[in-house]
Amino acid sequence: MIKTFEDKKEEQVEAHSDALSFDSLGLSEPLLKAIAYHGYKHPSAIQAKAIPLIMNGDDVMAAAQTGTGKTASFALPILESLLTKKQSSQRQTTVLILTPTRELAAQILASLETYGKYVSIRTAVVFGGVNINPQKNKLKNGVEILVATPGRLLDLYRQKAIRFDDLDTFVLDEADRMLDMGFIHDIRKVISLLPKNRQTLLFSATFSNDIRKLAKSIIKNPTEVSVTPRNTAAATIAQAVYNVKKSQKSALLSHLVSQHSWEQVLVFTKTKHGANRLTDYLKEAGLKSMAIHGNKSQSARTKALADFKKNKIRILIATDIASRGLDIDQLPHVVNYDLPYVAEDYVHRIGRTGRAGASGEAISLVSADEAKLLAAIQRLIKQEIPIKTCNSFKFEKDDKKGSDQRRFFRKRSKKSHSDKFRR
Ligand code: AMP
Repeated sequence: MIKTFEDKKEEQVEAHSDALSFDSLGLSEPLLKAIAYHGYKHPSAIQAKAIPLIMNGDDVMAAAQTGTGKTASFALPILESLLTKKQSSQRQTTVLILTPTRELAAQILASLETYGKYVSIRTAVVFGGVNINPQKNKLKNGVEILVATPGRLLDLYRQKAIRFDDLDTFVLDEADRMLDMGFIHDIRKVISLLPKNRQTLLFSATFSNDIRKLAKSIIKNPTEVSVTPRNTAAATIAQAVYNVKKSQKSALLSHLVSQHSWEQVLVFTKTKHGANRLTDYLKEAGLKSMAIHGNKSQSARTKALADFKKNKIRILIATDIASRGLDIDQLPHVVNYDLPYVAEDYVHRIGRTGRAGASGEAISLVSADEAKLLAAIQRLIKQEIPIKTCNSFKFEKDDKKGSDQRRFFRKRSKKSHSDKFRR
């Protein structure tokens, strides 16, 4: 029987488990050395909860969003278990980690390499949009851990480059986003190829009914862990809204970045074209910017992310799908240039800042036509986002329809302590 999160609410913690050390989790010396080398002092909440369960061989369903340290919570116990297992045979893998996007896949591999710095475990990452042949070669002698996106994995299977007879651990990462991106059939197909007798770990930011339905068919008697109450924003993120006419958003963004000397700003737009237009505008204004979205080649996306991390680009502009899983340490500013259509995406977006306990700022530029989207977000996070203004920026008046909606904003801000947000 799968217990509901409501049943387990008392177990939900947001803070890091400061009292606990990594040593007490029973990890071996080479892994502890890598953790220390990486500068982690204490396991995060999800790590403290999930690592012992996974090491015990349990099937686990974990509700944890990106930024909670969830990758290490499955990567560390997996590496630990591999220390005593025999190597995989040719074209086989012992562990399969399925994840929705190329960026996320590459990041998981980077984490495995970080934590596995002092152990010799063969890993590979496969995703679409790049030549399949080097991936086939990499799998020829077998790997212990394979990180994959669903489509390319199935292509490799059809081409007999990978088999799953040696598989004993399956991780489904970001399951909610997998379903959003329409991977359900691919996931089911992959699962039908795996041995029945295996350990299954399912990670998802939220557990919708669809996720629970999927879980029922792939995971037996899982133990549930949860570290972030559903749909809440981390307390370390300072959120604010600027009400601005749509046509002035680019100018306001450029003004705010320059005026506050913001470095490393991640900006979300709704569409790829919007991302491109904004990039051009900011470049014209002398601000180093780059867009990252589905129409960009894999190499362009990887380069944009690498340049952003190295501070060569000041502003990275992303659409929701492209941004999934972006792991940038200490990202101080996230800007919603457009509000997302789906309120849950707001939580994912702003989760890119204020990670692992660091503080961050999430700014939303909201035009009058987005009032309803803002209201839906505030309902979801059960919090009213403070409205800010900027005295050094010349805001233009909105049209009639816009000013009606502005009144709506003002009304909402007066009701900041309304019961609605205190449920
Ligand atoms: P994730 O949720 O896996 O995307 O991880 C979010 C960020 O937290 C990554 O940049 C990790 O390097 C970092 N991180 C993971 N575990 C810890 C920890 N125990 N202490 C400090 N930072 C961590």
